[in-house]
Amino acid sequence: MRVLLVDDSRAILAAFGARLAAMGHEPVSAANGAEAVERFREQSPDLVLMDIEMPVMNGFEAVRHIRAFEATRQWAWTPVIFLTATDTPENLVAAIDAGGDAFIAKSVPEAVFEASMKAMSRIAALRSQLSRANRKLASLASLDGLTGLFNRRYMDQRLDELWGALCREDAPLGLLMVDVDHFKQYNDRYGHLAGDDALRQVAAALSRVVDEAHREGLSDAFVARYGGEEFAVILPRCPPELFPRIAEALRVAVLMLAMPHERNDSWGCITLSVGGVYRPRAEGVLAPLFRRADAKLYEAKQNGRNRVELVVQ
Ligand code: GH3
Ligand code: MG
Ligand code: MG
Ligand code: MG
Repeated sequence: MRVLLVDDSRAILAAFGARLAAMGHEPVSAANGAEAVERFREQSPDLVLMDIEMPVMNGFEAVRHIRAFEATRQWAWTPVIFLTATDTPENLVAAIDAGGDAFIAKSVPEAVFEASMKAMSRIAALRSQLSRANRKLASLASLDGLTGLFNRRYMDQRLDELWGALCREDAPLGLLMVDVDHFKQYNDRYGHLAGDDALRQVAAALSRVVDEAHREGLSDAFVARYGGEEFAVILPRCPPELFPRIAEALRVAVLMLAMPHERNDSWGCITLSVGGVYRPRAEGVLAPLFRRADAKLYEAKQNGRNRVELVVQ
């Protein structure tokens, strides 16, 4: 384990550092609370051994900073053991209240220290397995199994958060609904498996356009599989002149894949219809924007497919 060892006494750092190294751990030391918070961020230790009384920033305060930092990352909780001069009940209560998990007296006999470290390293190992598994589950739960894009569930959640932020900022939002043309016919002609593969390729092409939007500074832009052969592209804080360019780029990106589709009569290859709505300043509720984008998509279909229809609202 990498163990962050914090104490303002060089003698203690040396003594505990040597003990930890002898037990096969990797000690990282800090001489006060402020330094500890910095090391913690840089080194992500598996365990923290923290003195209480220290100049600059004491141990309790440092742990509060560490817990606040962890709160910004999902599933993070690094065990903290306070090193105390005396093991009084008051020290125990204060240590737990400050966000610590246990405390050890500095005068603890060698064997007891070793046993405590063994117990804590078991907890730290379990905790990190759990947090890896939880992170993996959380990311799987937000992705679409076929295309690897974000799924509808993620989109709804993320858009909810974004919409709140955009309303506070009076910022613009662009919303594009994308639908593959005559896709039922594609399945009928080429089979469902080929259809799945086509959807994956369409999804990848849409992703590339969104990656390009990221490079143009739209850092919160994303594409999601809205359902079936429909996708949604969300463009928060999109400048007005960029919106139609991105919509067109999506259409062209899929056209350029030149995937044969005999039954898409006018084009002979897979094409997209795109309907979009641009709201220059976010306010009110979001749902009508989706209905409007859907109506524009319907117009694009009516007007011949392989088309983009947009409106500012
Ligand atoms: P339009 O141009 O009007 O959009 O015609 P369309 O045939 O694309 O529209 P429709 O809604 O009639 O059919 C959508 C088709 O998309 C039907 C369904 O089988 C197919 N589809 C939806 N999801 C999947 C999928 O995951 N894999 C495959 N292979 N096909 C899918
Ligand atoms: Mg001290
Ligand atoms: Mg459809
Ligand atoms: Mg379709």
